[in-house]
Amino acid sequence: MRIRIIVCWLLLFSLEATAFDLKADGGKRWYKGNIHTHTLWSDGDAAPEVSVAWYCDHGYNFLGLSDHNILSDGSMVKPFPVTENGRLTPERVEQIKERFGDQWVNLAVQDGTQYMRLKTLPEIKEHFERPGEFLLIQAEEITSIFPAVHVNALNIQRVIPPINNVSPEAALHSAVETLEKQSMELSIPMLTSLNHPNFSSGVPVEALLDVPKLQFFEVYNGHPSVDNWGNEAKGFHPTDRIWDIVLSMRQRRGDGRILYGVGTDDTHDYFKRAIGESNSGRGWIQVLSDSLTPESIIAAMKEGSFYASTGVTLESISFDGMKMTVGIEAEEGVAYTTKFFGTRKDFDPTSEPKIGEDGKPVAGASKIYSDKIGETLLETTENPAVYQLNGDELYVRAKIISSKEQENPFKAGDLETAWTQPAIPGR
Ligand SMILES: [Zn+2]
Ligand SMILES: [Zn+2]
Repeated sequence: MRIRIIVCWLLLFSLEATAFDLKADGGKRWYKGNIHTHTLWSDGDAAPEVSVAWYCDHGYNFLGLSDHNILSDGSMVKPFPVTENGRLTPERVEQIKERFGDQWVNLAVQDGTQYMRLKTLPEIKEHFERPGEFLLIQAEEITSIFPAVHVNALNIQRVIPPINNVSPEAALHSAVETLEKQSMELSIPMLTSLNHPNFSSGVPVEALLDVPKLQFFEVYNGHPSVDNWGNEAKGFHPTDRIWDIVLSMRQRRGDGRILYGVGTDDTHDYFKRAIGESNSGRGWIQVLSDSLTPESIIAAMKEGSFYASTGVTLESISFDGMKMTVGIEAEEGVAYTTKFFGTRKDFDPTSEPKIGEDGKPVAGASKIYSDKIGETLLETTENPAVYQLNGDELYVRAKIISSKEQENPFKAGDLETAWTQPAIPGR
């Protein structure tokens, strides 16, 4: 019995990746989506229809409304004008009426206060969804306060409460396992993604290593407080480095899933667009799929048939076992640099704790790992960008950086970028 379980486990993981050829043809196309968004159902400042309208109007094909510890279901009313932080105002209610009509808005007065009833996901779906063009996928951001572990549960059907006052790895493990159980019970595909590992007290890279089933994390999140590019004082690695450490250690141990990187907005602020606000349109994924359904999008993501972007569009990504090729949809007058990252089999897997000025390990910090993890194997300005493996790489992935600054970045000076998923040789 034990042998059978081990064989199944190995089969499960060894089926995950090998050669691939991602490009739009034969009925497959790229679908653009954002899976991390907030509305008035939790701490976003817009009604759900205002949020969804933005994405619908800006060429997105799918969207996950992922409010904190809640599904957009049941009855929820918001008072105005006296509401939390002025998030719902009479002007904003008028704007909703202008776009959707007077009949759309459900208002009530109780004890002299006006209320607006929030639209549920089924109501929002009925209004916005178009087959093959626009899809809403139910989601929840399972949000532990302490530790600050936030996990996106995509295509969730029943709310999952967070657990608090445990270790980061325990909170992460609980969210991943609970959603997987729900998915199996209902026979509905779902996925979990670790959101913004560098937010607040952070999620150390060792927590990701302790949860080998975790298959997705945010390499990019558009919220201003998430330290995508690391935080030296707190001992938080840049998200690219987190990714490389996890890929290297899991490949070396052979004990985990391939970690895929997503880009998201984590939108909270819909009315003021500026650096420092948590705006729409900063980070997304492009998923290559033969159809636009929650099942097909999630299946494609679990195969790694997608890339993350903050502005760069890719035509194709292919891997034949020994060569990785990235075709960029180049914009006129914009230059592109592609960096191929990877770790060689003989890397030093040891790590050291980060020591603070007081001579003690920094609480919550990730450990420090070898520079040989996530080496730049090749940097090129060619298009297509091609990396020929020499056979000792554990994985290869590409980051494509344009010369164009993002229009409304999470951090000033950020350049439009895309991240491919890792390719694993010899599988
Ligand atoms: Zn969060
Ligand atoms: Zn969020």
